[in-house]
Amino acid sequence: MQSPVAEYLETIVNRCKSDRTGEISPASAKNTGIDADQLALAITTVDGATYAVGDADVHFPIESMAKPLTYALAIHDAGPTEVHKKIGVEPSGDNFNEIALEESTGRPFNAMINAGAIAAHTYVDGDGENDRTERIRQHFSKLADKALQFADTEDDTTHRNLAIGHMLKAADVLEIDPQEAVRGYTRQCAVSVSTRDLAIIASVYANRGVHPLTGERLLEPDIVRHVLSVMATCGMYNATGDWITSVGIPAKSGISGGIFGVLPGQLGIAVYSPLVDSRGNSVRGVELFEHLSRDVGLHLMEASPIGRSVLRSAEERHGAMHFQMQGTLLFTQAELIAREIERRECADLPVILDFEATIAVSVVAKKILAEMVDRLRRHDHVQTVVVDPGGFFSDAWGSESRTPTVVGSVEAARSALGT
Ligand code: GLU
Repeated sequence: MQSPVAEYLETIVNRCKSDRTGEISPASAKNTGIDADQLALAITTVDGATYAVGDADVHFPIESMAKPLTYALAIHDAGPTEVHKKIGVEPSGDNFNEIALEESTGRPFNAMINAGAIAAHTYVDGDGENDRTERIRQHFSKLADKALQFADTEDDTTHRNLAIGHMLKAADVLEIDPQEAVRGYTRQCAVSVSTRDLAIIASVYANRGVHPLTGERLLEPDIVRHVLSVMATCGMYNATGDWITSVGIPAKSGISGGIFGVLPGQLGIAVYSPLVDSRGNSVRGVELFEHLSRDVGLHLMEASPIGRSVLRSAEERHGAMHFQMQGTLLFTQAELIAREIERRECADLPVILDFEATIAVSVVAKKILAEMVDRLRRHDHVQTVVVDPGGFFSDAWGSESRTPTVVGSVEAARSALGT
């Protein structure tokens, strides 16, 4: 039986099928076997479920979609300070292969255009060209959870990219030989991926750098946040403004016709259709994302209110006020919980704060809730027990006098209170 999710994705793909506008890019046309009809959509959730429809297992060169991935690896290998010194984070407003640098700093504008991407490539660890491209191939493979290979592509963009390479060398952005840098960059563009692979890769970014399938941390959360921010402002060639207003998620496209997008905390999404528009973005790929954005509510600027769902229950039970929290607690959720505890009825009853169904607690939420517990105990003189089997609050109290009774279950809380 087909899953209702896959069925829904299929209806979206079918809606875009008949559009034949756009062209196969001359940069991709040299690669044999491109079928203009091919169309695919895949999504991977942060808990590792993948739904793929259409030609999701057809392979194509990753092209510019390699840029954010290599940029992240460069920041990991060379450190953020070094990389930010040499590569900016501003949209350029120019074409992706413009032979230009930021006037005020002499750096490439960002790592989503060729100048910045060629520079980023060289900041990846590696003893020479082969070592570096192999490290990149292996990192991409870990992201895709599959051994990716280099496609046999011909690339007639090399002369322009060489001009960019020499410009970067003259501006002191490159430490290595520009020809080596461009050869390596060209090879990184040739890594062969499928739409399914790209959705899985994107899901690692959606999951703050931890692979949803293997559980391995592949990237630090700070790097993920930085790279997604640059994708959001520079990822879709010169159409990034249109994209972020209409679709509303960080994404990167490649001239081969793929696009991957990241809905942080939720999904990696990828599409493929080789017919691209004048700005280099897949025509039907953009349409698919637009449909999804409207139907699924992908747009980051359209977050739904948190409501009261973090507080599963707040009631008097067996002679104690029982507050049961659930899900992820960030500042806004902690504020809501603290407010509810403050205005609780039966103010003289002991309190059980139950974090058994909590998934994560941010630093600031921990501070606010620990302070709340402190007030209950020391200010209101209310007996308070914290149920924290996940140990979220293990380092929250600071001193022994501030430490409340912490137990692993509601039963243990009741017996501690004698209720
Ligand atoms: N290999 C192409 C170039 O560097 C990639 C172009 C792209 O996908 O934007 O020019």
